[in-house]
Amino acid sequence: MRDSSVGGPLLWPADEPWPMCGAEGHYEPLRRPTEVVGPEPVAMVPVVQLYARDVPELPFPAGTDVLQVVWCPLLHDDGVNVVSPRLYWRDERAVGAGALRSDRPEPYAADEDFVPRPCMVTPTRAVEYPNRDLPEGLGEALTDRFDEVERRFGVSYFEAATTIQSKVGGYPGWTQAPDWPMCRCGRRMAHLLSVTATETGPWHGDDDAPAGHGMDMGDLGGVYLFVCTACPDRPFAHRYDC
Ligand SMILES: [Zn+2]
Ligand SMILES: [Zn+2]
Repeated sequence: MRDSSVGGPLLWPADEPWPMCGAEGHYEPLRRPTEVVGPEPVAMVPVVQLYARDVPELPFPAGTDVLQVVWCPLLHDDGVNVVSPRLYWRDERAVGAGALRSDRPEPYAADEDFVPRPCMVTPTRAVEYPNRDLPEGLGEALTDRFDEVERRFGVSYFEAATTIQSKVGGYPGWTQAPDWPMCRCGRRMAHLLSVTATETGPWHGDDDAPAGHGMDMGDLGGVYLFVCTACPDRPFAHRYDC
């Protein structure tokens, strides 16, 4: 719990209830006799924990240095959202000074596609350029250069300059058309982090290799989290893309 991780144990106060999801109609595919789970709430699962010492670039609200993401391991079929993440920004010292939760409730139903295998993380910084978020017309204007790069070096612009993998910052690896959420303050939210099923391109060996966390996320999908860095309470939104 004192390490950054994907799917690992979280630094969690003993007296704080573990997050549960009681969404009506959330379901587990192939579950019989019914896919729908409930009405008893389902324990959420740890997805990401990042400490400021590993990723100082995260937009930590004042007085916090840990970001935690959990989500419900069932599907939520409201058309776009699929998963239901929650974010927690914490102060390691303040939480660590009190009693810590040593275990967590296991969900009594879960779609394995959305339950990460616990992994340590060793973040690597990379410069990323936009793909589908390129300003309008720029992609076409640069087509000849992209073609030349591909001829000379054997990699496409897409492979060399963008990443589709779990990451902090950069650009969402949109499969569908970009769909940036807006904050209630009127600003476009910033991409906080992505959790994706694949690790492709030069950052990883094989194309479409399964990521270390082992989640298929509904046919090589991804979940992108966004926050407003202007509003102090860091409103967030997410997009599921596949
Ligand atoms: Zn749920
Ligand atoms: Zn805002």
